[in-house]
Amino acid sequence: MKIVLASRNQKKIAELRTLLAEEFSDIEILSLDDAEIYGEIEENGTTFEENALIKARVAAASGYIGVADDSGLAVDALGGEPGVYSARYAAKCNFAGDHDDEGNNQCLLYNLCNVPDEARTGAYVCAIACVFPDGREFVVRGESRGRILRSYHGTGGFGYDPLFYFDQFQKTFAEVSAAEKHSVSHRGIAIRTFAKKLKELL
Ligand code: IMP
Repeated sequence: MKIVLASRNQKKIAELRTLLAEEFSDIEILSLDDAEIYGEIEENGTTFEENALIKARVAAASGYIGVADDSGLAVDALGGEPGVYSARYAAKCNFAGDHDDEGNNQCLLYNLCNVPDEARTGAYVCAIACVFPDGREFVVRGESRGRILRSYHGTGGFGYDPLFYFDQFQKTFAEVSAAEKHSVSHRGIAIRTFAKKLKELL
């Protein structure tokens, strides 16, 4: 079975390849480049689900099953922000420094500086969309709830992980192994749900 993953991010492709290989013995994951689909995809949806579907539809134009994910952090006290802007939050906030993970984290800390500890709750969200060449589509969602700290803890993971405290671990996602993180993470949950649903539909 061939799947085209709507991503050019080699880390993301490798991660999905590993996780799906555990679920399917005969799976081959191709990138957009492998499928010779070039050009930028405009992610102009207002939800994670919409953006994942936009990307998966492009990948399905290859003639194979198209799959895409979209993820981010939704903070309750910020009305769900950074949300679909998670990767580009520093730009959205017109942050004067670099528009990278560090800039995104600084914006988050600044926007939450007057929010008391008990209200600094939020969820990582991951939507995975699947589009079959015959037009069938489905989207699954995984969520992992936690709290946003006031300073960094840990050096693992990426993005907002050093600020994302997971009560059950009593640690941030940057202080645990990748395997521990994926056992409870939004992406781990979404991938397991996705694999189950795909098996039902094949
Ligand atoms: P995308 O799914 O590649 O569009 O990435 C969305 C953005 O959400 C990332 O750039 C991070 O800022 C954030 N994000 C999504 N998942 C995680 C995670 O597991 N840890 C840390 N940040 C994440």
